[in-house]
Amino acid sequence: MKKLDKPYRHREIGTHKLAPETLMMSYGYDPKLSEGSVKCPIFQTSTFVFKSAEEGKAFFQLAYGLREAKPAEEPGLIYSRINNPDLEILEDRLTLWDNAESGLVFSSGMSAISTTLLTFLRPGDVLVRSEPVYGGTEFLAEHVLPQFGISDQPFGSYRGTPTLEQAVEAARARGRIGVIFVETPANPTNDLIDIARCAEVARSLQGPDGRRPLVVVDNTFLGPLWQQPLECGADLVVYSLTKYVGGHSDLVAGACLGPDALVSSVHGMRTILGTMSGPHTGWLLMRSLETLKLRMTSSMKNARYIAEFLAEHPKVDKVHYLGFLEKDDPQSGIFQRQCKAPGSTFAFDIHGGEAEAYRMLNSLRLCRLAVSLGGTETLVEHPATMTHSDVPAERLAQMGVTSAMVRISVGIEHPQDVIADLSQALDTV
Ligand SMILES: *Cc1c(COP(=O)(O)O)cnc(C)c1O
Repeated sequence: MKKLDKPYRHREIGTHKLAPETLMMSYGYDPKLSEGSVKCPIFQTSTFVFKSAEEGKAFFQLAYGLREAKPAEEPGLIYSRINNPDLEILEDRLTLWDNAESGLVFSSGMSAISTTLLTFLRPGDVLVRSEPVYGGTEFLAEHVLPQFGISDQPFGSYRGTPTLEQAVEAARARGRIGVIFVETPANPTNDLIDIARCAEVARSLQGPDGRRPLVVVDNTFLGPLWQQPLECGADLVVYSLTKYVGGHSDLVAGACLGPDALVSSVHGMRTILGTMSGPHTGWLLMRSLETLKLRMTSSMKNARYIAEFLAEHPKVDKVHYLGFLEKDDPQSGIFQRQCKAPGSTFAFDIHGGEAEAYRMLNSLRLCRLAVSLGGTETLVEHPATMTHSDVPAERLAQMGVTSAMVRISVGIEHPQDVIADLSQALDTV
């Protein structure tokens, strides 16, 4: 739905364009509508009172697409499953980093991904998707969607998986490719997929009816600061806001961003599945967005110190950090074109195996042993036996996920404190 031109939606002062980090404190919110409150209140309500029966009718006609919006008409508030001010304002702010027309907030990253895929995939379709992807996404693609007649065709950049081109050929033999789904960088190996290349392939598959596969990118790992998939040609970007955007390991939420036409279809599906987020989580996320750039910049800088410390350490064999890509590595070209910084979640291989990795993990005193990532505190986990434990051993080996691998999500502590902790823990190995 096109937004009206309102003073609180202005993104510039005269000809001076305001940066997203500036707009995170004000964009989309009019204090006059909330008793002058400088901050957007929590609209902890399930339903909204209509001024008149006629207004209620007009709101429903627009919400259900029974007519076009009149000039200067915006969707009215009806019921919090359809929308709520804490979600609408948050959605407006989320669009700024990715330069998206529209956005939607969900109850989790998985509800954003599943609702988006269910909007655009139909029985007989094939989902072409990168591998490895987040465990929940993999389960959805491999075990849930096939029950609805949607088949799964992975592709990847590592040994033993088809390339994008091979996957597309295999998929076309089976049916219409509905979506090309990409997660980049991949978890936990930080393998990169070329988004622009996926967009090019999707456009080359446009049929005489104008339909073509949509490219959907999970931007949880580097976004929204260090990677903007829409600018690389993706159609939609999805997030687990639980990670960097929420950033304090205290909420679960997701998002989908892109052009109005596509996002409004996803909105229709969200309304019916009821996968939206609640007002309190929306409010927490607005608070998080105010410091997103500070947090992501701090953890990104810390990660470099920590990656360099680990790379020099005699008990560490390899550090899978995007900042260490060699110039002649084809992945380096993708990184230059597509990423603005190496982020702060990466894996490293300890000299030894599970026993050595566990000894180190059990000796940490400051870093927390937990899954998830993107929070203010440093989290460390063991992919082979934790986040990736349901992936068959043979595929883990192909991806390079060994029992010696540890994943770290660097927080915003003083980097020397994290290094001191890692150092004493590695000494026990
Ligand atoms: C965590 C994560 C998800 C799932 O998000 P939830 O908020 O836990 O549902 C999806 N994709 C990636 C890359 C993730 O890290």
